[in-house]
Amino acid sequence: MSKCKGYAASEANALLGPFSFERREPLEHDVVIDIKYCGICHSDIHQARNEWSDYQDECIFPMVPGHEIAGVVSAVGGKVTKYKVGDKVGVGCFVDSCRTCPECRQGVEQYCSVATIWTYNGRDKKGAPTYGGYSERIIVDENYVLRMPGNLPLEACAPLLCAGITLYSPLKHWKAGPGKKVAIVGMGGLGHMGVKLAHALGAEVTVLSQSLSKQADGKRFGASHYYATSDSETFTKLAGHFDLIINTVSATVDWNQYLDLLKLDGIMVLVGLPEKDIPVGAFSLTARRRSLAGSQIGGIREIQEMLDFCGKHNVPCEVEVIPIQKVNEAYERVLKSDVRYRFVIDMASL
Ligand code: NAP
Ligand code: ZN
Ligand code: ZN
Repeated sequence: MSKCKGYAASEANALLGPFSFERREPLEHDVVIDIKYCGICHSDIHQARNEWSDYQDECIFPMVPGHEIAGVVSAVGGKVTKYKVGDKVGVGCFVDSCRTCPECRQGVEQYCSVATIWTYNGRDKKGAPTYGGYSERIIVDENYVLRMPGNLPLEACAPLLCAGITLYSPLKHWKAGPGKKVAIVGMGGLGHMGVKLAHALGAEVTVLSQSLSKQADGKRFGASHYYATSDSETFTKLAGHFDLIINTVSATVDWNQYLDLLKLDGIMVLVGLPEKDIPVGAFSLTARRRSLAGSQIGGIREIQEMLDFCGKHNVPCEVEVIPIQKVNEAYERVLKSDVRYRFVIDMASL
């Protein structure tokens, strides 16, 4: 075991502060990563505040959040073949899974039917709590480590490990591309990556945001259209319009209103994870044979595909780099939608 410095919430709703804990000694297939940057995902806030208690069995405190990890390999175990010291690597939302169930074999380890081992607020195979990326170092099996694009700044790639893949996966699965009208609801960390990725995939992109305040940015990221959902005209004007809607909203909104914007056979995919259930009316779906779906991050193979895609098509995240001492302030700003478009912690500040 070795000591590791980080930032943790000691209990639900506590402010995050300095915390020291143990990391395991590297095993044969482990990669030791010096963390350079870690993105702040809205899920970190939901979990540090135990907002998903209706849906998960336990919330483990002290909690070191962070699952958008970018760093450099500082050591490798004796049997590691994929990475060497000095490589720029990433770690996303999970650090292991059973590896043998049908989902793992299919490469969708995030849906492991035994247990996906989450990067933090999870338990490893021995039952010990996992600690995330708001820390100086992490030790991960090489099969759950990703290679970062060489041509983009590391800090702009950290959020690809969650925000990037969470939008890339459903956009690919539901075939966003030329000739498809795609709406992205909410232009925060996930949403702004959705705009960039859907545009890079060739779809016609519309942003549905609460106001028009970020319109110029949305257009710069590749949106052709931008509407305010605070204006009820938006819902009249766009009724029956979209092939695919990706809903990234973290709060409770009326999903039925958005379902009405789908054309025949259109699909709305939920990726935002609000605290409470939201009722859906059958007529919202039956009216035009619409579907409501959900999607959770992506598997290791697909994350690597997305990272390579972002490198090739020059698709970085828009980030505001902060020292770790500002993490509590950053949480408050995310809650006010005052983020352009992802906070990333510079771990040198630790
Ligand atoms: P974020 O940066 O806070 O973005 C959420 C956006 O939702 C905001 O920027 C805002 O967009 C919109 N929004 C917020 N409150 C709203 C309200 N009351 N009414 C309407 N729109 C509202 O958060 P994020 O990191 O992108 O995460 C978004 C959600 O996805 C969170 O619930 C997170 O836990 C979840 N998530 C899911 C997965 C997955 O695998 N499914 C992965 C990562 C995160 P505008 O300002 O443009 O209106
Ligand atoms: Zn996340
Ligand atoms: Zn599995």
